[in-house]
Amino acid sequence: MALTDLLLLGRERDLTSERGVSCEGELPPASDPELVERAQKARAQLGSRAMILGHHYQRDEVINFADITGDSFKLAQAAADNPEAELIIFCGVHFMAESADILTGPHQKVILPDLAAGCSMADMAAAHQVQSAWEHFSKLGIAARTIPITYMNSSAAIKSFTGEHGGAVCTSSNAERAMSWAFTQGEKIFFLPDQHLGRNTAVLKLGLSLNDCVVWNPWKPQGGLTDEELLAAKVILWRGHCSVHGRFSIENITDVRTKLPEAKILVHPECKHEVVAEADVVGSTEAIIRTIEQSPVGSTWAIGTELNLVQRLANTYTDRNILFLDKTVCYCSTMNRIDLPHLVWAMENLNQGRVINQIEVDSRVASFARVALERMLALP
Ligand code: SF4
Repeated sequence: MALTDLLLLGRERDLTSERGVSCEGELPPASDPELVERAQKARAQLGSRAMILGHHYQRDEVINFADITGDSFKLAQAAADNPEAELIIFCGVHFMAESADILTGPHQKVILPDLAAGCSMADMAAAHQVQSAWEHFSKLGIAARTIPITYMNSSAAIKSFTGEHGGAVCTSSNAERAMSWAFTQGEKIFFLPDQHLGRNTAVLKLGLSLNDCVVWNPWKPQGGLTDEELLAAKVILWRGHCSVHGRFSIENITDVRTKLPEAKILVHPECKHEVVAEADVVGSTEAIIRTIEQSPVGSTWAIGTELNLVQRLANTYTDRNILFLDKTVCYCSTMNRIDLPHLVWAMENLNQGRVINQIEVDSRVASFARVALERMLALP
């Protein structure tokens, strides 16, 4: 089977998860008064065979059962560093479980408690769309001079495309290093799938201008760009974004600054460029947590990231004044799909010998994706 077909196959799998085929058998009702007890019992029965990984954006009821918490990169590393765990129960979203499967051994099984826990940003870059953009770059004669960099928040198929074409994966904490490295390998960067992280890093970290960046729109012929624009661009950004971080606006910042002039604005680099440019501190999920940990008692912070994490920080650091930057409540709806009933359902099935919701990346897709991930790990 050609790689393109395998990439399409990866996309088909993604679509299966989007269709919401989440679980077979009976899901415990959320109202079950014995749910926590059932979870504790099932977890104890699994013992050291299983490891539960919990992303920082997960609900408290799930995080309470996590052996390791972290951002997507830290959790992928944790999966790779624990070969003794036969079962990895991944409380996060689909692309994270895929990365864990790619980085773990063949004896390990990665379980996603709800297959409908996808990521809208990762879904904005379909493998066939990326392939067709690349074919256009080839016809224009720029593909050989262009290095793809894909954010961790992308499907295995996109990571595989990146690895095959000489590129690397990046995270929000090493995007600057990844893009600097890419410019030592080629003249242009094709940044997938988050236009905001790509633009913010290019402009605010590497000193490029906004005019050096163009946006490839997969829904328009030739990405909506002229050949001249593509030839002149230093960074070709994919038209993707995070629906959660994309909500924060300049109005939110102005509002907070007016009402609470002492507040510092702390945002994730997935936010829009004007928001990031106006913030006091910008950092990855792990950097946001560190910033609050190290902040003085009594300080005030308005944070622009996923609400579960902001609430957890507010509940943990009660001697700081911690607010959500937006006025309206906004959780990541797909992260929130993993709840205690799904976790209990997954653990009880595993205890009964049924491996459910296993995430398995095709071996050829995985091999190129691993190349892209390993290039990231080897970044200078
Ligand atoms: Fe995807 Fe954004 Fe949700 Fe993260 S917060 S999983 S990038 S939609």
